[in-house]
Amino acid sequence: MNRPERFRPPSVDEVLRSPHCELALARHGRPATTQAVRQVLERMRQAEPPHPAPVKAIAERALACLEDRERPSQRPVINLTGTVLHTNLGRALLAEEAIDAVIAAMRSPTNLEYDIEAGKRGERDAHIRDLVRELTGAEDALLVNNNASAVLLVLNTFAREREAIVSRGELIEIGGAFRMPDIMARAGAILREVGTTNRTHLRDYAEAIGSATGLIMKVHTSNYMVQGFTAAVEPAELAALAHQHDLPFVDDLGSGTLIDLARWGLRHEKTVQDALKGGADLVTFSGDKLLGGPQAGFIAGRKELVAQLAKNPLKRALRLDKLRLAALEATLKLYRNPDRLAARLPTLRLFTRPVAALRSLAERVQPHVADVLGSGWIVEIADCSSQIGSGALPLETLPSAGITMKPSGKASGAALDKLAAAFRALPLPVIGRIAQGALVFDLRCLEDEGAFIGQLRLLKPEAGDVLA
Ligand SMILES: *Cc1c(COP(=O)(O)O)cnc(C)c1O
Repeated sequence: MNRPERFRPPSVDEVLRSPHCELALARHGRPATTQAVRQVLERMRQAEPPHPAPVKAIAERALACLEDRERPSQRPVINLTGTVLHTNLGRALLAEEAIDAVIAAMRSPTNLEYDIEAGKRGERDAHIRDLVRELTGAEDALLVNNNASAVLLVLNTFAREREAIVSRGELIEIGGAFRMPDIMARAGAILREVGTTNRTHLRDYAEAIGSATGLIMKVHTSNYMVQGFTAAVEPAELAALAHQHDLPFVDDLGSGTLIDLARWGLRHEKTVQDALKGGADLVTFSGDKLLGGPQAGFIAGRKELVAQLAKNPLKRALRLDKLRLAALEATLKLYRNPDRLAARLPTLRLFTRPVAALRSLAERVQPHVADVLGSGWIVEIADCSSQIGSGALPLETLPSAGITMKPSGKASGAALDKLAAAFRALPLPVIGRIAQGALVFDLRCLEDEGAFIGQLRLLKPEAGDVLA
C-alpha cells in the first residue's frame, strides 16, 4: 500500500549552506538569517497539511521576512486626506533650507551651547532669540518641546499653587490628550474659570482676581468657534486689567503665525506680533503648525518674565535638541523674505496651490486610477475642500480638487474599506478618507505625481470581490 510520504523538511543547515541563502547571509548576517530560516521551517511544519517546499523557496521566504523586519516603522506616506497640517501624519513638512541645516548639525559637533567668540559656555536658545525678536518685536524668547510644554512651563512658573484665570469659553481640548484644565492641574496651577461657555465679560475676570491669582490667560479657541450670542474680552482690555494688578497676561495662540496670511488670500489669523502689540506679556505658539517648522514650543514676550521661565528646572526637561534648533533657525530666516516664502516653505506652498492646478492634476491622475481599478469602480474628478489642520483656522477651507472612487455596483462599505486598505498597503502608503460612499483623495498635498502613479500597478485591491 502506498502511504503518503512523510513530510521531510530540509535541515536549517542545508538551507543556510545553499547558494539561495547567500544574499540573506550577506545582508543580515548569520544569527538573524539562521533564526529566520528556523521560523520559516517551523511554520511549514505546523501548516495543515504540512507541505514541503524546496530549499530555494525557504531561503526566499526567510529573506523576505528579514527585509520586512528592516523596513522602518516610521516611513513616508502620501497625505491625500485634505488636511494639510495633519497631526497624525507629522504636521508641517520642513523647507529644504531647514533639512540641510539639520543634516549639517547631525554630522558634526556644533556650538549648540558654546560662544565661539568668547571661547566659553553659551546658551542654546540664543541661536533663535534674536530671530524671534526681529520677526515678532518680542523683547525675548525661549524654546521648548512643543506648545503644550510652553503652556505647562508658563503655568508652572507663574501659577504654581496659585490661580490661573481662564474664560470657560476657552477651556479647550486639542487632539484628545491636550486638555487645558488637565495641563493646568499638572502644572500645579489652580484653574479659576470665569464667565460662561458663550459669554465672558471683563467684570468676570476682575471679580476673580484676588491675592491667590498668578496670571490671566487667554487661550486661542483653535479648533472650534462659539457663534451666536457670544462675548469675549479684547486682549488689550485683559492686558490692562492684568497690569493694574501686577499680573502677567498670557496669550496662548496655538498656531504661531508670523505673517499676515491674508497676503496669500487666506483668512487673517492673529499673528504673534498682533498679540504682543495687543498687550500680551507672554505669547505661546507651536513650531509645526502655521509656522511651518519642526515640533517646538515658543514663548515670546517680556524679558524679565522669560528670565524667570529660563530659571525653572522644568525648562531643562523640556528643552530642544540641536537638530530642531537648527531646523527652526533656518525656517525663521525664510520669513525675512516674505516674497519668496510661499515658494520655499512647504506648508505655505501647499496652502496656496491654485485650485486650477489641482484640477489639472486630478485630470492627469484620474485615468491612471480608473485604469488600475477597472470596471468595478467609478473614478471621478471632484471638487474638495481642504482644511488647514492642527486646529488652525478651524472654519477656513481651501477650495481644492481630487478624485472619488465608488463601487459601480451596490455600494458597500466593506469594499470601500478594502480599497482604502489596498492603497495604504502600497510601498508609499496612500492615506485618503471615506466620505459619502466614496474613497476620496484630495490632491492638494500630492506633489510627487510620478511616485503616486508609478506605484499604482502594485495595487492589489485584494481580490475579485472588490474589483469585479
Ligand atoms: C495646538 C495648540 C496647543 C498644543 O500645541 P502643541 O504644539 O501641539 O503641543 C496648545 N494651545 C493651542 C491654542 C493650540 O492650538
